[in-house]
Amino acid sequence: MHPLNRQTTLEKIAQQSEMDVVIVGGGINGIGLFRELAQQDLKVLLIEQNDYCSGASAAPSRMIHGGLRYLENAEYSLVKESLHERDLLLKNAPHYVQPLATTIPIFSWFDGLFTSTLRFAGLTDHSCNRGALVIKLGLHVYDVFCAKHTKMPRHSFKFSKATHQHWQGLNRDLRCSATYYDAWISHPERLALEMIKESCAQFSKALACNYLALTGVEQQSLQLADKIDNQILTVRTKALVNASGAWIDFTNQKLAKPSRLIGGTKGSHLILDNPLLHSALNGNMMYFENQEGRVCIVFPYFDKVLVGSTDIKVDDPDDIYCTPQERDYIFESLQYIFPNIPLAINDICFTYSGVRPLPSSNAQSNGQISRSHSIHVQEASDSSDFPIYSMIGGKWTTFRAFAEQMCERLSTDIGFEIKSNSRHQAIGGGKNYPNTPEAKQQWIKDYCASFTVCEARAAQLLDRYGTNAYELGEYIKQQGLESLSQSTDSLAGVSTYMTYSQDYSRAEIQFLIDNEQVESLLDIVLRRTNIAISGALHMSLLIELNTVLSQVKNWDSQRAQSELTQTLLHLEKFHTLTNSMLVERSQTINHSLINSYDNDNDNATTDRHACQHAARG
Ligand SMILES: Cc1cc2nc3c(=O)[nH]c(=O)nc-3n(C[C@H](O)[C@H](O)[C@H](O)COP(=O)(O)OP(=O)(O)OC[C@H]3O[C@@H](n4cnc5c(N)ncnc54)[C@H](O)[C@@H]3O)c2cc1C
Repeated sequence: MHPLNRQTTLEKIAQQSEMDVVIVGGGINGIGLFRELAQQDLKVLLIEQNDYCSGASAAPSRMIHGGLRYLENAEYSLVKESLHERDLLLKNAPHYVQPLATTIPIFSWFDGLFTSTLRFAGLTDHSCNRGALVIKLGLHVYDVFCAKHTKMPRHSFKFSKATHQHWQGLNRDLRCSATYYDAWISHPERLALEMIKESCAQFSKALACNYLALTGVEQQSLQLADKIDNQILTVRTKALVNASGAWIDFTNQKLAKPSRLIGGTKGSHLILDNPLLHSALNGNMMYFENQEGRVCIVFPYFDKVLVGSTDIKVDDPDDIYCTPQERDYIFESLQYIFPNIPLAINDICFTYSGVRPLPSSNAQSNGQISRSHSIHVQEASDSSDFPIYSMIGGKWTTFRAFAEQMCERLSTDIGFEIKSNSRHQAIGGGKNYPNTPEAKQQWIKDYCASFTVCEARAAQLLDRYGTNAYELGEYIKQQGLESLSQSTDSLAGVSTYMTYSQDYSRAEIQFLIDNEQVESLLDIVLRRTNIAISGALHMSLLIELNTVLSQVKNWDSQRAQSELTQTLLHLEKFHTLTNSMLVERSQTINHSLINSYDNDNDNATTDRHACQHAARG
């Protein structure tokens, strides 16, 4: 596959006289539409002011779900569509989307019947605790909606004794529990990037560029600011799709077409390093009501625990981070169902927040604002003007359906034939994915034979990139980065892993930088890899990654230092990862590694000194 090269893309943009469609916003809704329009062979341009998937699309609860809760608001069509899309994602992206057993702890038999009926009838906004009967009804409808296509088991109930046997540490007051199946996504940012890479590689008229912001419009030409090279580009278009999520009204303002379409709510999540809680979850998600009847989630995220979220109205989508009040609220909610599992602030290894781009609404409770999606059109004022389509709301789960609907609307309005759609197209490393244990074993054997790596490393790369792991192997071969003829593990051997990571090789990081429009250190640790969210980031590794990035980008030491400083500031403010935490982790997690490199590795010693320097600073 061709690399995503930002410089070449900018040159191509500069050569365009007019695009068919420009999409503003590289979150999942903009990316989904980009993929859909690219295959109609249109001249389509996707621009993102920061990195792809750095807004709400990087901040979900990571559930790919039907939305059981939305049944109470009588949003049947949303639930039906979501379940259908969930099943398509399980099929089309098996490398990143997997089934997840989901359990609801239940504290009464009949509670909530009255309030849920009123909510269903639209007569109240209040949340309430739901008893077994209300939940049973909801799960029954869920099963009926899934019956046609899903292969997942139907829901089941357990009485109190069986529940406590299965999940130790749960609140002793519960009466029973219900378990059903939804799905979760391990690497949303990578899945989105795969769609961009694929579209650009297959369709030469499709262009995508990150760090390129729409700043205004002059004489019907869009003004685009390149935030890396500080230059302005202009481009004309037949239609503009505003997929800028919580920024939709700000974007329309820049286009001199003011609107008040969005009423965003902020949601925050914590990643906890708490082995007791991890084992108490027994591989399940707990989908539970907290003390005030709001639904929260907690589930194992690799060897950590993901818990969330909050739901707070905000006007400004920038400057969004998890506050101490939100942290305490999430802890209190968690303690409500696991009262005897000790939680400490030190357990928090990462936090993240995002703004749900919900439609502007007068609902008293944020939970009642629809999670569905809609298209708002501002017609062109004259023949030299272009129409603006704002993509409002939606969920990660439903991005493909939303994109398909937007594509159909554009096909009618600007006049093109729909040649194909993405419904049954596997995404990226989900193509030819080995779905059975036997097929997986065979894939691993073949990979080892092709690239001379050990089986453990091949399995790791399959988990991380799906079948796209072949791209990485080929890149390393072509670049001659490693000697593949050796009998040692050339991708994974001691000499090829990074000095401060037992998981990533230097060649792998170089591959990501060269092929995936990496422009900053944050792109690497937050979005191209799971290093930060999985709690694996520490100061020595961050510095080493910065060294690789600086070498590939040919940055001088001043530029490299400024990148590191900016990254540390961002991680502290937006992800609660302080310098001292990162340094402490370096000392504890990688103590032995640091020691072993102390005497014989100049780079490592330099990095360690830089690390001590950063800690002091
Ligand atoms: C806390 C939380 C939990 C959630 N949990 C789930 C879940 O578990 N499952 C699920 O299915 N969904 C979930 N969602 C919903 C889902 O994540 C969002 O609906 C979806 O990501 C919205 O995508 P988007 O592309 O519209 O917006 P965004 O991802 O925010 O993308 C908009 C992009 O536009 C860019 N932009 C803005 N202005 C400009 C400009 N002038 N020029 C260029 N670019 C610009 C921004 O930088 C941003 O990247 C959750 C959302 C949140 C916030």
